[in-house]
Amino acid sequence: MARTLQHAGFSAYVTGGAVRDMLLSIPAHDVDLATSATTADIIALFPGAVEAGGRFRIVLVPIDGQRIEIATLRPASADSASRQHCPHIAGSPAEDAAQRDFTINALYYDPGQERLTDFHGGMADLQDKVLRTIGNPDERFRDDPMIMLRAIRFAHRLGFSIASEAVASIDRHAALIAKVSPERLFAEVARQLTSGQAAGCMRDLCRHRLHAALLPELRKDLLDSQSSFTGLALQSVDDSLARGTRMSASFVFAALLWPQLKRAWDALQKNGWGVMPALERAAHDVCSAQSACLGIRERVAGDIHAIWSTQAYFAIGPHRAGADLDQHPRFRAGYNLFQLRCAAQEVDPELANAWSAQRRR
Ligand code: ATP
Ligand code: MG
Repeated sequence: MARTLQHAGFSAYVTGGAVRDMLLSIPAHDVDLATSATTADIIALFPGAVEAGGRFRIVLVPIDGQRIEIATLRPASADSASRQHCPHIAGSPAEDAAQRDFTINALYYDPGQERLTDFHGGMADLQDKVLRTIGNPDERFRDDPMIMLRAIRFAHRLGFSIASEAVASIDRHAALIAKVSPERLFAEVARQLTSGQAAGCMRDLCRHRLHAALLPELRKDLLDSQSSFTGLALQSVDDSLARGTRMSASFVFAALLWPQLKRAWDALQKNGWGVMPALERAAHDVCSAQSACLGIRERVAGDIHAIWSTQAYFAIGPHRAGADLDQHPRFRAGYNLFQLRCAAQEVDPELANAWSAQRRR
């Protein structure tokens, strides 16, 4: 891909996580390229390429199941708003590097010349296993508070520490997270939850009070609660991913938000609501309250709702619910959630045993 751009007369570099992960010998999530070609040039060169929005304009090129993200090198003078609207001006690699988040994410590899350029001491930080922002962390986090969340994810995924001045700055600026759009927040939290390091990431979000604008009840459920449900659920998600089991974002969110749903469901039943209407109402209330801070996509919200609905069937036991439930489109995910609830001793042991006996048959 970089060669195609170079053969067409543009400069092109592998950068971002693609270089970082290659140097750490871990599989990269996607391939990040930076080029002097403009968005229109890239689209003309790669059939099937699509432009994607987001904070920085990128072009996505899916090739052989791999996700290639190509961005035009960002010029120094452009602020983020004009970068959005003027994708036809390319900057130099140095200008582009100065606007990236962490030193280890600003290494540029030119495959034509087989040369690596390190503008901000990223190689030394890779060696020392340190995440350091490019430039003053206060300015970086004020400019884009999302970088604080990315710091937590990279620290856990790579096993790196966050530079102490950046940690102190996160603690000062955590409240700015509320300024990031709910859609960007949803994408980042979904990535943390399915990173294989969900338990560590969620604990750190709470410790640094980054959770408040995202998942306001998380701290209560994960750190302060007497119940072990949330910690156990996140650990189980991480263990399943480590075994290679696929985990949908819907399932992980359904598990993470379960304690909230349970509180709302129980409260409505105490007020005289029937089991199923109470569950439906509680699911609606929890999902819409949550979507206001974290823009849960509609399809995902529908899925979460369906997974929760199965719990009303599990509550009435396998003899009465068995046949209906097998047909439920989210039965598998619902049963996994039910098992987590059993493991957290939230379910009457007799009911739990009846279901496991039925599933063994
Ligand atoms: P991974 O793809 O493994 O999650 P990554 O570092 O490649 O990690 P991407 O989201 O693919 O992350 O972004 C590619 C690169 O773009 C980053 O490495 C970083 O250099 C830059 N980048 C991404 N988001 C930001 C941001 N919010 N602010 C500054 N630079 C960013
Ligand atoms: Mg990447």
